[in-house]
Formats: sequence, structure tokens, C-alpha cells
Amino acid sequence: MMTGSEVLRRYAAAVADAHAELTRLDQVSGDGDFGDNLRSGLERVLAEPGEEHGFDVAGRIFLDEVGGTSGPLFGLLFSELGRALEEDPRAGWAAGAQAGLAAIQRVGEAEVGDRTLVDALAPAVAELVRGGTFEQAARAAAEGARGTAELVARRGRASYVGDRARGVPDPGAVGVALLFQALAESS
Ligand code: ADP
Ligand code: MG
Ligand code: MG
Repeated sequence: MMTGSEVLRRYAAAVADAHAELTRLDQVSGDGDFGDNLRSGLERVLAEPGEEHGFDVAGRIFLDEVGGTSGPLFGLLFSELGRALEEDPRAGWAAGAQAGLAAIQRVGEAEVGDRTLVDALAPAVAELVRGGTFEQAARAAAEGARGTAELVARRGRASYVGDRARGVPDPGAVGVALLFQALAESS
């Protein structure tokens, strides 16, 4: 069974590969820093001393040190995953992702359809909670992320650019989809 740190390593590699694309997406709908925020945060997690770089460590680093709106929001997701995986390494993925989604919505107040990372996270959580596989959750997240291309943002910086980002997916949603892809590929 894969551990949180394996998923994080795979995720960091995928984000490094996608850095240019994530940057481009945030240049269209925001200020262009999303790729840097996510990549540098994950690099910092992997560079932490000690052997295991679990989601608890990732949560702390993203909450305390990573910039952008996305830093603390990913921090909430990672923290809840860390907590749930410590309790139950198997069922913790569903419980942690669900708690992470709830925390993100409590803080950020985004609903599905607002063109944020919630549009990728919510369908992935729904799959895991109904007992779907990690592959199904990854597919749901990717579909949700793709669907943001047709949405006009109602939250975050992208809400200032209105229609200009139409046709291009939300960077945060794409970033979340990569996390579930890393999870599916790790298992
Ligand atoms: P910033 O706009 O501060 O530069 P980032 O570039 O780090 O933020 O992150 C942008 C991403 O944050 C967006 O693509 C979106 O997915 C996500 N986001 C912004 N506001 C919210 C919110 N209120 N709730 C959930 N996600 C949000
Ligand atoms: Mg940004
Ligand atoms: Mg910014």
C-alpha cells in the first residue's frame, strides 16, 4: 500500500513537469504565480529534514510558508489528509479529502461552478466517498478541471478578468487534478 510520502513525491514530480503550463494558466486568469507557489511549496516539503515527508508536514509548510490564495487552501487539504491518514492509512484518503474540501469551502466560500479548485476536488471526493477507486477519483478530478474552462470565475483573482479566461481551465483545479492522478498512479 502506498504511503502519503510516496504520493507527495510523485505529485511534486508531476507539478515540476507541469510548472510552465500551470504558470501559463494563471497568467491568463490571475497573476501568474500559481506554478511557482505549488512547485516551490512541494520542493520545500521534500527538502524537510527527516525521512518521511507526509501530508502532515506538507500541510504545515503550505499553511505557514506558501504564498498565494492557493498556498493555505492546499495547506488545509494536506493537513486534513495527514490527520486522516495517520488515523487510518487506507480509509484516510476519502475521509481526509472530504474534510479538506469542507475546510477549503469554510474558508474560501467557493461552491462548485465558481471556477476554482473546488470544481476538481468536489467530484473526486464524491467518488472516494461513494467507494470509487483512486482511478475513478482521478478521472472525476480531471473532468472537473477541464470543465472549469467553460466557467466564469466568481472567486479569487480570476473573478476580476471575467470572460477573458474562457476556454482555459482554472490553474488551481488543474493542480488538484494532478494530485489525484499522482494518487491513482501510486496505487
Ligand atoms: P493568487 O490569486 O493569490 O495568486 P494562486 O495563484 O496561488 O492565488 O492560486 C489561484 C487558485 O486558487 C485559483 O486557480 C483557484 O483554483 C484557487 N482559488 C482562489 N480563490 C479560491 C476560493 N475562494 N476557494 C477555492 N479556491 C480558490
Ligand atoms: Mg496567482
Ligand atoms: Mg498571487
